[in-house]
Parts: sequence; C-alpha cells; structure tokens
Amino acid sequence: MHLEKGEFTKKWWEEFYSKELENGIKEVGVSEHAHRFIEARYIYSHLPYTEKWCDSSLEKYINFMEEIKRSYNVKIGLEMDYFPEKEDEIRDFLEKYDVFDYVLGSVHWLRSGFGFDIDPNDPRWSNDLEEIFIDYFDRVKGAINSGLFDIIAHLDLIKLWGVPLPDDIEEIYEDVAKVIANSRIVLEINTSGLRRPVKEIYPSPKFLEVISKYDVPVTFGSDAHLPEDAGRFIKDTYSLVKSLGFRRLAVFNRRSPEFVDL
Ligand SMILES: [Zn+2]
Repeated sequence: MHLEKGEFTKKWWEEFYSKELENGIKEVGVSEHAHRFIEARYIYSHLPYTEKWCDSSLEKYINFMEEIKRSYNVKIGLEMDYFPEKEDEIRDFLEKYDVFDYVLGSVHWLRSGFGFDIDPNDPRWSNDLEEIFIDYFDRVKGAINSGLFDIIAHLDLIKLWGVPLPDDIEEIYEDVAKVIANSRIVLEINTSGLRRPVKEIYPSPKFLEVISKYDVPVTFGSDAHLPEDAGRFIKDTYSLVKSLGFRRLAVFNRRSPEFVDL
C-alpha cells in the first residue's frame, strides 16, 4: 500500500490496516514511491516532474514507519523506479538507506520520459504500440537483471489502459518468464489492475500461466492508494495463483527473504 494521499498519521494508517485485517491479511507492507522523496531527487533529475513530485521527506517516512512497526505487524518497504541509465544512483541510494524490509522495482517511465500510466490520452500512445511494449519489457528485464530489487512490481503494467496487446505477446511472456526464472527476484501479484480500465491483475492470468512453469516465489499486493482498496481482491487472487501451481510465498526482513508454502 501507499500512504501518499494522506499524512503520516496513525489515524490514516489505521484506516488502511483495519481494511487489510478485514480482508484476512495478517502481515502488510507500506511501500511509498521513491519518486515522492526529496532525498531521491537525483535519481529522477532527468524527468520533467522532479520538482513537483519529489517534495516530501524520506526521513519522515522512515521515522513514522519505525514507530508504527513497534505496534503492528508491518514491513517498511519502498517502490523504486528503474531507469537503465540510473543504476549507479539507485544502488547508492539503496545502500545509503538500508532500513527497508523490501524494495520493489518498477517501471513507470519509458524512453524520453514517457510516463505511460499518467494519462491515457497522452499523444505518445499513438506511437507504434509494439515498440512501446518492447521498450517497456526491455526495461522490466533490465530491472530484474540489475539485482537492485527484491521484488518486481506489476509486471505487465503497460496494459493498464486496456490497449490491444501486440501479436507476439506470447513470445514476450516466455522471454520475461525465463529472465525471472534465472534471477533471484520475487514476483509481485498485484490486484490493482482490476481497478484500471484493463480490469485484470498484473501479471495477467495468461502471463502467470507461462511463469508458473518455473518455481518463482511470489508476494501479493493490492497497491492501495486509498483505504477502501487495501487488501482488495487478494483472497480470490491468492486462490487463482495457488491453482496455477505457484508454491512459494516470500516474506521479507531487512531485505532478506524467507519462503513459506502458499
Ligand atoms: Zn507502481
């Protein structure tokens, strides 16, 4: 979950947490986007939004989470964007702030700073769709292979607006699945796509079927930005993932995973 739409207060946090409990979830994680923090500005300096978005204090977030952690079963996470040209900066940052239980790696920006999940009417969506998908999945593979992250987030986010998938999508699935299988990364099963026009989890059931051939460990995320979405759709998704043959659930402490049976 992300608390970014409110303040770091116990009241705001508890609205999310109580919803998670209602949905049967026993251990939760907060993973604020690195792109909201002043301390991470240098990683985002090539984007036009830096000043506007990187405007809150990471220190405040960490202090708040450390306090919450004393009374709740919660992990301190971070969602960090991946840019191939910023691997050194990301590594520096993650070495400097070593308080996280887990770090999600994600791709929200494509070549020339196209933030594809911001606006479905962005004129860049009229560019060659196949090229957009290739650019996206090249970055996802880069994120996985970089070794910078514990979990790869919302694997096929690029589909969120319900755009038609390229003809060779099956090949892309196979290719990405192999990259995951040959890495140590954990796969995030993210239900937030069900709230988007595509109305489908990330990765899609089809994509999951391909990945299920390999023994890939998973985590579950509702990617809630509002309390009402905390833990939403997790129960059904859990059953689906289990029925597809996934066997290992990863839990993290200070970036070290342990695997339990699904
Ligand atoms: Zn994300």
